[in-house]
Amino acid sequence: MYGVIDGTGLDVIAPDFETCIIGHARVERLWTGARWSEGPVWFAAGRYLLWSDIPNDRILRWDDTDGTVSTFRQPSNNANGHTVDRQGRLVSCEHLTRRVTRTEHDGRVTVIADRVDGKRLNSPNDVVVKSDGSVWFTDPSYGIMMDYEGDRAESEIGACHVYRVGPDGAVAAVATDYLKPNGLAFSPDESLLYIADTGVTHHAGGPKHIRRHAVNADGTLSGGEVFAECTSGVFDGFRLDRDGRIWTSAADGVHCYAPDGRLIGKVRIPEMVANVCFGGAKLNRLFICGTTSLYSVFLNVNGVSPV
Ligand code: MG
Repeated sequence: MYGVIDGTGLDVIAPDFETCIIGHARVERLWTGARWSEGPVWFAAGRYLLWSDIPNDRILRWDDTDGTVSTFRQPSNNANGHTVDRQGRLVSCEHLTRRVTRTEHDGRVTVIADRVDGKRLNSPNDVVVKSDGSVWFTDPSYGIMMDYEGDRAESEIGACHVYRVGPDGAVAAVATDYLKPNGLAFSPDESLLYIADTGVTHHAGGPKHIRRHAVNADGTLSGGEVFAECTSGVFDGFRLDRDGRIWTSAADGVHCYAPDGRLIGKVRIPEMVANVCFGGAKLNRLFICGTTSLYSVFLNVNGVSPV
């Protein structure tokens, strides 16, 4: 388990990445057997990680106390991205049911959003919760484009937007100029919102970048300049550490960007990575969803809490 896995490693691209890593730390493969791993989320109180295996219609659970993996929920409605809110509840994007849900403390599932202006959402992909309780999610059409990760259907909205659900439950579009909005995350002080666009997957020459928006007090966004262009595949899901660095998925592993937009290092993974999250008691362990497998590596940085 702690040996060197072929195709893994830490690549220093800029000197400041040296302070982010532990030189002798190794990438570990914690589990394998998924078809498409996505949406990792860490539950500090229970010391476990949940993640999605979308085509297999299940949410898996890796237990930090003994390293075992079990099925947390199946069927999962082809759940994709997850987060945890300030009350410690699971918030999930579901492709099949085309909705964002919250799992309450007693296990009941509450629908947070499934329509906007009377039209069904496409297939919510990734989600974050702001400290004011608002829920922000992306709604590309990947889950309705084929039957592999949901049910094939036409988009009722006819476009792929980013939405905010206010504390009153109202759903409003906050970004409407994306082709395939995907991962998203706030800066540590929540003044910035980063959003990935993976439009190149279905549009020749389309976007494969992360954009950066300023978050306004009224819940709207401004700005939106390109923060980073992906040099290997696309940026899907990502998380930030407490110093504002972005740790993002890519085709050859995890790319780390400094807050000024420089690519400073990589965690090489031998399969395409879809998403990451920080976990462990100190949030200094990066969990990595790489297609068939769950990986992790200890770092010399700490994730933003909650994750
Ligand atoms: Mg995604």
